[in-house]
Amino acid sequence: MRYAIISDIHSNLEALNAVLSFLDLNPVDKIISCGDIVGYGPDPKQCINRLRLLNNFTSVMGNHDAAILDKIDISNFNNDAKDAIKLNKNMLSKEDFDYLSSLQIKISENNILFLHGSPRDPINEYLFLTEKFNQVMPLFTEKFCFVGHTHQPIIFEQDNKGNGNFYRAMEIMELDDDKRYIINVGSVGQPRDNNPQACIAFFDSKYLTLSFKRLSYDIEKTQEKMAKFNFPEKLIHRLSFGI
Ligand code: ZN
Repeated sequence: MRYAIISDIHSNLEALNAVLSFLDLNPVDKIISCGDIVGYGPDPKQCINRLRLLNNFTSVMGNHDAAILDKIDISNFNNDAKDAIKLNKNMLSKEDFDYLSSLQIKISENNILFLHGSPRDPINEYLFLTEKFNQVMPLFTEKFCFVGHTHQPIIFEQDNKGNGNFYRAMEIMELDDDKRYIINVGSVGQPRDNNPQACIAFFDSKYLTLSFKRLSYDIEKTQEKMAKFNFPEKLIHRLSFGI
């Protein structure tokens, strides 16, 4: 099965369009999103509408999707994130809320687990620290786990003795059948790895090849819409730099 795995679209229609145009030319069997379709950006409704029309697309639920639905407490969100949640909420219809409510917390298939944050807390936990990666490896049984949430692509590999290794997302990499992995697929709509381009990961579950592709999109157009709807300045600014 050839997968395209994306995450953290965050209501960024231009970035999503760039990804979907690329996937039109380079089709896969399935597109899976690791959550956060909404939040931060100006086009939650348009993004949901585009995704809903795809026949090979599924997404899990992210913390911003859950926040829009009042499913989680957002007191620990920063003020910019809270403001964007409020703005996004006002742009959505009942149908859109129903779509977000239908998202699963985790998807498991073909020895692959897909979720937003971490196997310990799929909605909220961030995997940044090495010790956290080590702690959560025994908490799932699949060989591969794809996540998002940090907006920073990275590959964590663990051998059967428990030794871990990190790899930077690269153009192409062959995964080892004897090892287990957590793969962060970065972000489509708000990358934070000093590269403002939208990120997609490709995984072939038969040949175990993993590759990453970065795509430029019309950032200014997204920023103009954000300014028009009074989104926080910092959220507008960061898109230019991928920070
Ligand atoms: Zn996110």
